[in-house]
Amino acid sequence: MKTSNYLACPECDLLVRCGSAAVGEKEHCPRCHYLLHRPRAQSVVRTFALSLTGLCLLLPANLLPIVGVKILGTSHDGTLLSGVMTLFNEGMWGVAILVLLSSILFPMLSIVLSLLISGHLYFNRPNRYLSEWLRTLQHIDEWAMLEVYLLGIIVACVKLASMAELKFGLGLTAFVLLLLVTVTLASNFDSTLFWQQIERLNTDEKK
Ligand SMILES: [Zn+2]
Repeated sequence: MKTSNYLACPECDLLVRCGSAAVGEKEHCPRCHYLLHRPRAQSVVRTFALSLTGLCLLLPANLLPIVGVKILGTSHDGTLLSGVMTLFNEGMWGVAILVLLSSILFPMLSIVLSLLISGHLYFNRPNRYLSEWLRTLQHIDEWAMLEVYLLGIIVACVKLASMAELKFGLGLTAFVLLLLVTVTLASNFDSTLFWQQIERLNTDEKK
């Protein structure tokens, strides 16, 4: 089913009829040419599969050692969580909270919400919280920044490489895979389609 909806262009506020494009087509604002909508193929099922994969990667990425450092005979394994704990213990509360939110809590919440929403849509299960979940998901996605943390790991490794022996752990593999999954998840996510499907589910339920 295809429905047409009106959308205010985020750039110039022009009210545009949107949602009629097919997969492979793009819808631009007629006034400022801002890209309004690009339908993605099988967005719901792909989001469901990818968020399920992401969920399986969350625990190993957070709990398994990312980098092991051997310095003067003693070795330390660093995990994502222990990194945050170290920042807390060093008194760097602000940085610790930022890292905790942007590298652990927000990515986790984002994956759980993606799974919940796409799961309900995939199995045609109406739920009165669906629109609230999707709204929250679109807000927290701006704050989930795994790639920044990966950059931090690379910089730290380059600095430490000359003075200590480094061993990369399974946590790093899980973390990089998780990063790839979240990037693919974001590129397959078609919010216009999700809103249309939620609307359809909710109106079907009311009938
Ligand atoms: Zn515009």
